[in-house]
Amino acid sequence: MKSVAIIGAGITGLTAAFYLKRKGVPVTVYEAGNRAGGVIQSIRRDGFLAECGPNTLLETSPKITQLVRDAGLAPRRLDSDPKAEARYVVRYRRPIALPSSPLGIFGSELLSAKAKFALLREPFVPPRRDGKEESIAEFVVRRLNQEFLDQMIDALAAGIYAGDPYQLSVQQAFPRLAVLEARYGSLIKGQIFGARERKRRREVARDRAPKFSFDEGLQVLPDALAAQLGDAVKLNTSVTKFAQMENGWRVSTFSGEVEHSAVIYCGTAYKLAELNVKIGRAGSPLPADGARGVTRRNDKIDFSPFSEIRYPPVASVVLGFRREDVAHPCEGFGMLIPKIEGFKILGTIFSSSLFPNRAPAGHLTLTSYVGGERQPELASLTPDELISITCDDLRVLVGVKARPVFQHTALYPKAIPQYNLGYGLYRELMDTIENQAAGFFLAGHYREGISLGDSIVSGCNVVERVEKFLTAK
Ligand SMILES: Cc1cc2nc3c(=O)[nH]c(=O)nc-3n(C[C@H](O)[C@H](O)[C@H](O)COP(=O)(O)OP(=O)(O)OC[C@H]3O[C@@H](n4cnc5c(N)ncnc54)[C@H](O)[C@@H]3O)c2cc1C
Repeated sequence: MKSVAIIGAGITGLTAAFYLKRKGVPVTVYEAGNRAGGVIQSIRRDGFLAECGPNTLLETSPKITQLVRDAGLAPRRLDSDPKAEARYVVRYRRPIALPSSPLGIFGSELLSAKAKFALLREPFVPPRRDGKEESIAEFVVRRLNQEFLDQMIDALAAGIYAGDPYQLSVQQAFPRLAVLEARYGSLIKGQIFGARERKRRREVARDRAPKFSFDEGLQVLPDALAAQLGDAVKLNTSVTKFAQMENGWRVSTFSGEVEHSAVIYCGTAYKLAELNVKIGRAGSPLPADGARGVTRRNDKIDFSPFSEIRYPPVASVVLGFRREDVAHPCEGFGMLIPKIEGFKILGTIFSSSLFPNRAPAGHLTLTSYVGGERQPELASLTPDELISITCDDLRVLVGVKARPVFQHTALYPKAIPQYNLGYGLYRELMDTIENQAAGFFLAGHYREGISLGDSIVSGCNVVERVEKFLTAK
């Protein structure tokens, strides 16, 4: 058997390569950049640890736990401090703690009496049955009210997707909410009955799943996987040209052409649009007509629709302060900021409260995000400007009184794919491509969910599909 080509050494590609190799399948991982890990990037400096990309890994699937164990990283795993569960949402220009129990919301200042009444009324709002796709904004206004959207869901959409609630599809981006309505007729009823069912099935809800990282940050995981893959990882090697052969795929790199039994594309959706994939005679023909459904042009797969997928820019701003220079305790997970509050940052993670060794003794680390769909133009400010606007906001929000003693910024010009209205079509196209172009697989954050955990699960799932394909061959 020839090796399997894996495009992209982000967490999806590395997970897939790691497990294929363990099963005795030879692999080659082609990575365009000069390091492994994709958007994961942890930097240790002056006693602080800056997480530029993801901060936490949610243990939503046993596959995630297993990968950590299989990679030999169980001793380096760092669970979040159980005391750091508090989450804040900004209202009246200050962080207000989210109540720890659902009933607690009725005693909280986070919502007005009118919005609390909307919550009580929600179980009696008839569910939508016409199957029409809705934005999360339309969905929330229909089932609750405008204030609930502006105060809570807008902040959540910014915190998870750096996205716009008027564009994000409830079915694609928040499928659990759509399922709760479809199955139980109400979000509140679904919360109650869904929790009982989960308990019976021993599943963990996303908001209750354990959060963890590693002693030296999330980069530990891709580094360990890449180390075990050794020479199989080819850095600085962008691959965009593929041709289906009688018995596999020919992959063109700057140094020549290599034949592989199968290809797994684990890059980004916007790079997917640049691929040149020629299907040979062995490949089943893809449908060539139909305006939006075109997936073949002459003998090439037409990936151009994927260029429409939006990835807004996000800058992360990691700042270290002396403990006495910040009035707020900053204990908890962090704070979400709705657009109506008028701040420039999208939200802040209380990184050193979550994990103990993120700041030296007597200091704290705060990780804030700027840009997203809300104010994309801000993400490309200079590092000094980013630090300055972040400090201005943190002064008001958590009482920062002095300049940071540690600072690090990172720009992701294309950060997170937006599962906006119509995203289902891209997913259908991916299914079609994978079904029709035998041996060409698609996996990662653009297909099976945007979180780190989703990407790991996607990497595990594609291994099963590849194995089945290789066995059938
Ligand atoms: C700022 C930020 C914060 C986040 N925070 C969290 C968080 O706290 N928790 C969480 O669960 N998730 C978070 N996420 C999401 C999560 O980090 C990502 O979904 C996940 O890491 C994606 O992994 P991936 O391997 O699918 O893609 P990527 O990490 O994007 O990796 C893709 C790789 O493919 C390479 N590539 C692309 N095209 C080619 C090509 N043609 N040839 C060769 N190589 C190619 C790229 O260079 C890249 O290295 C965050 C994301 C960002 C950007």
